[in-house]
Amino acid sequence: MSSIPVTVLCGFLGSGKTTLLNHLLSQSKDRKIAVIVNEFGEINIDASTIVHTDEKTIELSNGCICCTLRGDLLEAVDDLLKTRELDHIVIESTGIGEPLPIAQSFCLTPEELDLDPGLPNLLGKVHIDAMVTVVDAAQFFEMYHRPGTIEGDDLERGYGQLLQEQLEFANLVVLNKLDVATPEDVQKLEEFIALTNPRAKVLKSIRGVIPIEDILSVELFDFEEMSQLDSWMLELEKEHTPESETYGLGTYIYRTQAPLDLDRLYDILEQGLPRNIIRSKGWLNTGSDVATLWNHTGRFLTLEPMGEWNNPAEAFTELVFIGQDLDGAEIEDLLSSALTVLR
Ligand SMILES: [Zn+2]
Repeated sequence: MSSIPVTVLCGFLGSGKTTLLNHLLSQSKDRKIAVIVNEFGEINIDASTIVHTDEKTIELSNGCICCTLRGDLLEAVDDLLKTRELDHIVIESTGIGEPLPIAQSFCLTPEELDLDPGLPNLLGKVHIDAMVTVVDAAQFFEMYHRPGTIEGDDLERGYGQLLQEQLEFANLVVLNKLDVATPEDVQKLEEFIALTNPRAKVLKSIRGVIPIEDILSVELFDFEEMSQLDSWMLELEKEHTPESETYGLGTYIYRTQAPLDLDRLYDILEQGLPRNIIRSKGWLNTGSDVATLWNHTGRFLTLEPMGEWNNPAEAFTELVFIGQDLDGAEIEDLLSSALTVLR
């Protein structure tokens, strides 16, 4: 039996995932497509997490397939493979699902996933065709900068954090709701994707209307590539990205070897980063043996100790900023005031 392609649909609540899915199914013709839908947060009276809603749809509920229901997901797919003839499986994630852990479930063994080794090992039986993220092109940046954490999210993630995650790990990004988005919204979003996920293919749609051939059996997924942390940062570090002519989204890279004083940095960050910075990420040398990861999306900035430098003598700070009409000198000034004064 040959390996069955799996397409994963991600996208925030209201982005139009379900509409897109229904449109795909309406074009399936003689293609045998099974669907796994992850419902979470909706009222569900059934105690079981796996519900067969019709002959080709399985619903996974009472949890999230990217974390708590990873084992159930493996079982649901295994069940589909055993009970029917299939050409394709489409998985619709919840609005707060993260693409990477869902993809991992089909690229690693249950042991490697830290799950019960008795769960079905699907390697060789299925493979990911593409990770697809649907985006509400009209509201993307407004949501990205929304303060506070996502309602109902146990992990207390910020809106920008999750939206970024969903964008960065997609092979295909569908800019949906083009009928209500302004040309500026769309342009800015396209430039933002070109910077943060240069390898993604971008499709545009109104009410999820896209030819099925553009989404299914496109063979765009590459696990090695996806697992490579921060490929977009490496890309930006490699070459100079000119400011885009049209919308003015550009990048600025701050580099220094001198350590930054964390207390002083916190004082500066209290005041907030310049408003035109949308996203920034990189490494901080705080003068200790431990490298700190700076990760900023929208209203969220985390500084997280990640592990020891390979060589503390070569510790460095390197931060990539993405924003609109960035002022390099302003960023330089801001951060330089946190540099530790050499004695
Ligand atoms: Zn999850």
